[in-house]
Amino acid sequence: MKPAPFAYAKARSVAHAVELLAADEARVLAGGQSLLATLNMRLSQPALLVDINGIGGLDGIARKDGQIEIGALVRHAQAERSAEIARHAPLIAAAMPHIGHPAIRNRGTVGGSIAFADPAAELPACLIALGGEVDLAGPDGQRTVKADDFFKGLFDTALTARDVLTAIRVPAAGSDSRFGFGELARRHGDYAMVGLAASARASGARLNEVRLAYFGVGSTPQRARQAEAALAGGELEAAVAALDTDLSPPDDVQASGAVKRHLAGVLLRRVARQLMESRP
Ligand code: FAD
Repeated sequence: MKPAPFAYAKARSVAHAVELLAADEARVLAGGQSLLATLNMRLSQPALLVDINGIGGLDGIARKDGQIEIGALVRHAQAERSAEIARHAPLIAAAMPHIGHPAIRNRGTVGGSIAFADPAAELPACLIALGGEVDLAGPDGQRTVKADDFFKGLFDTALTARDVLTAIRVPAAGSDSRFGFGELARRHGDYAMVGLAASARASGARLNEVRLAYFGVGSTPQRARQAEAALAGGELEAAVAALDTDLSPPDDVQASGAVKRHLAGVLLRRVARQLMESRP
């Protein structure tokens, strides 16, 4: 199928993009890896595409004030190769090879993945596991939204139709930071059946500040808070059992809710081991 007719405008700056987005039914175009598929299937029919690819300054990766800032236009492949991300945000580095295939990672952007908010996507869960933030520019200026408040529902976020996501920020890993990542998919590169991104701080043999963010188990990435508390208490089996309360994955085309719940426990055992052993 071909897309419905649409107009196209190339934004020169973030402010220009925000101006263009004031039009009815306007939509940001970043890497196009998700948007163009939805246009071709006529799942969405915007009147205007606002291409942000020419805007300078949105493709940087930098360490600032104890955080790693990743610009919205950083391609997945760029993040995958970044020494800065490997060193200071190793959870994101671990997730990158699981996103689609090389051709998709060459074009798809970090900002696009967060804005699109697919519930089975890797990066939204990493952002939540790391307690990160999202920078947005809109008609009323800049604002920052915490990851825990950004993902509202199925493909629904704190972004309005008038906003441009400009960057994400995560705390830079310290010597006591620990990370774990696991994903089960039918084939490598497919969206996850179930995935888990996790972070913690180590204090001797104990884990503190455990954050477990599951993806592929509901309409948004989900924290497993009771399992987090049990893991911080050193109780792995209690943590796995707590997933019965924390998660209620619906059936989908990939697996039944019961199978997903079982896989969530399998991943927790694997990721708990990584949390104990990983060091940045
Ligand atoms: P686009 O497609 O350009 O945009 C997606 C949506 O986000 C649009 O609504 C757009 O308006 C909005 N948007 C984009 N950027 C911004 C911004 N800066 N500000 C405001 N709104 C914005 N992703 C995964 O996470 N895991 C996978 O396993 C995976 N597998 C894939 C397999 C295939 C075959 C394909 C085609 C894609 C797959 N993807 C996967 C999606 C890929 O990661 C996309 O790159 C990503 O979801 C969207 O990024 P994009 O830059 O291409 O955004």
